[in-house]
Amino acid sequence: MRTRITLACTECKQRNYDTMKDKKVHPDRMETKKYCRFCRKHTLHRETK
Ligand SMILES: [Zn+2]
Repeated sequence: MRTRITLACTECKQRNYDTMKDKKVHPDRMETKKYCRFCRKHTLHRETK
C-alpha cells in the first residue's frame, strides 16, 4: 500500500519533492531532511496533501 505524497520545505514552504511512502511504515505525517534549491541548503521537509 503505497501512497503518493508531496514534501514541502518548512522554511520557504516550496513543494520540492513528489515521492511515494508506505503508510504502514509512516502512518503519520512524514518529515525528512532534504536539499531545498530555494533555500540552497538542507532543510526539514514535511509531507503535505
Ligand atoms: Zn526552502
